[in-house]
Amino acid sequence: MPADPLSILRNVYGYDSFRGRQREVIEHVIAGNHAFVLMPTGGGKSLCYQIPALVRPGIGLVVSPLIALMEDQVAGLKQAGVKAAALNSRLWGTEKDLLWRDVGRGELDLLYMAPETLLKPDTLDRLKSARLSLIAIDEAHCLSQWGHDFRPEYRALDCLADIFPELPRIALTATADTPTRAEIVDHLRIGGQNSFVAGFDRPNIRYGAAGKAGTTQQMLRFLEPRRGESGIVYCLSKRKTEEVAATLNNHGFTALSYHAGMEMKAREENQRRFQLEQGLIMVATIAFGMGIDKPDVRFVVHVDMPASIEAYYQETGRAGRDGLPAEALMIYGAEDIALRRRFIEESEAPDARKRMEHRKLDALLGFAESCQCRRQVLLRYFGDDCQPCGNCDVCLDPPETFDGSIAVQKLLSCIYRTGERFGQAHVISVLLGESDERIRQLGHDKLSTFDIGKEHNRNAWRSIVRQLVALGLIEVDVAGHGGMSISDKGREFLREKPALNLRIPKRAKSERRSAGREARGALPSADQALFEKLRARRLELARMQGVPPYVIFHDRTLAEMAARCPRSPAELAGITGVGEAKLARYGKAFLEVINGH
Ligand code: ADP
Ligand code: ZN
Repeated sequence: MPADPLSILRNVYGYDSFRGRQREVIEHVIAGNHAFVLMPTGGGKSLCYQIPALVRPGIGLVVSPLIALMEDQVAGLKQAGVKAAALNSRLWGTEKDLLWRDVGRGELDLLYMAPETLLKPDTLDRLKSARLSLIAIDEAHCLSQWGHDFRPEYRALDCLADIFPELPRIALTATADTPTRAEIVDHLRIGGQNSFVAGFDRPNIRYGAAGKAGTTQQMLRFLEPRRGESGIVYCLSKRKTEEVAATLNNHGFTALSYHAGMEMKAREENQRRFQLEQGLIMVATIAFGMGIDKPDVRFVVHVDMPASIEAYYQETGRAGRDGLPAEALMIYGAEDIALRRRFIEESEAPDARKRMEHRKLDALLGFAESCQCRRQVLLRYFGDDCQPCGNCDVCLDPPETFDGSIAVQKLLSCIYRTGERFGQAHVISVLLGESDERIRQLGHDKLSTFDIGKEHNRNAWRSIVRQLVALGLIEVDVAGHGGMSISDKGREFLREKPALNLRIPKRAKSERRSAGREARGALPSADQALFEKLRARRLELARMQGVPPYVIFHDRTLAEMAARCPRSPAELAGITGVGEAKLARYGKAFLEVINGH
């Protein structure tokens, strides 16, 4: 095997050049140094430890939190001809003995395991007598006690510095905030000078947000042009994942659900299908998260509001790992905001923590209601900056604004007149003069604010409510019924009546072209047909081996084949993602498709 990083990149992985800071990190680790690597999802973190493990003598040990995640990585590496294995609870008896024999003989390049496996005294004993090249700790933010993926076993990894003091430790994560970064570097004793922090931007993801106005229809309108693509729909509750999945299946999509209340077996089966098949929609709670390194997730839709910008960024980050266009849509409503506030209040966390969670939620609301480029808002939150991106809903279709001061006065007065205890549906009905039994019983049809808001329709009022909640003029009763009241800031507004620009909600319009189509749209239609044939062949080959299609070739590789039509093995080797092992193994099968086209 060639021993310099660039030839490994070319021969094993089939890529031309390093991305971002990969080369720097790889050389740093090969020289025996520790490293902390922060790159966005899809940035190419894996190569940062895999290539050094191939260059340095001995076995590279990789700590990974989930079996599914390590098995996927191992399957991919084996396809590329790398000797990789995973040690986990699924491995036992002879197979396990054989693995340890390989370890003893040094016949492995990379060995993956979960922290609890690694920290068993028996495992550590065996590893101490093996020849290791480095220790990589993937998803290192799991050791952060404040993070949302905290895993106590990860915390115990600090002992590695004492047990294997001579081995380089490489901690990798895509989680962005500064305290978490510091905690990782400190806890694993990596040394601040060994940090490699790349920008957070995911330029291929198009961000968008929309207020709830018939969520099911909004979701269906978004998904319709994306039929046949893989994606994730996130919901807040277990029950809702099942309902939404049923709705999608009724509309002819293939959707599965995933949440923590499901039997382990059913959950794993759904995850497995999502990885193996093309064009499935996973409807899930955030229990479906880590462990998805499927590169061709083309969209992530939130039909309920996420918890914070960090959570949102991580959840949407699962789209477009392959670098091709992908899309993120968040659909949210004032009721979500109330629910989130309630979660925070009802948690057992200390007050300081609750205040922090409220602030984080405020930041997310600011993002949702922003009249500025979404990417700018996101990146600034993480301490980065950029020009207006041209690839978000605000840039592509800037929201119109109007002077909302009269509307705000009407709304706040109506909340006040009705006693600051009704939810938005009721208050809006009063504004619109919709008299029903309840309104008459309450005498709300006699109020001065009854029937004064006809200049806006219900959706427009809902949008105004959301914006005022986001601006902090309205408080929503977090204890339960969503009753709205006027905050101090709201009272001040009523006294001073300053000018206030609000967004005008967009009418549902015909949807934009889907990201996946755009990705393929780059291909002339003749090549599209070939692309589909190549995909079909890939699926056959994947099924035969029981591996996900993308470990054979990514869509990007197939698209390049379709566009360039290589006719010989030598030409095929020039395609991105075609390394030596894959060329030997699959070259014939794919050339057959191309030559027969
Ligand atoms: P991360 O772990 O940072 O989310 P991965 O390591 O899984 O990202 O890499 C994302 C994708 O990009 C993978 O399919 C990987 O093979 C590909 N990739 C990584 N480095 C390069 C490179 N230098 N050139 C082309 N593709 C790359
Ligand atoms: Zn933008």
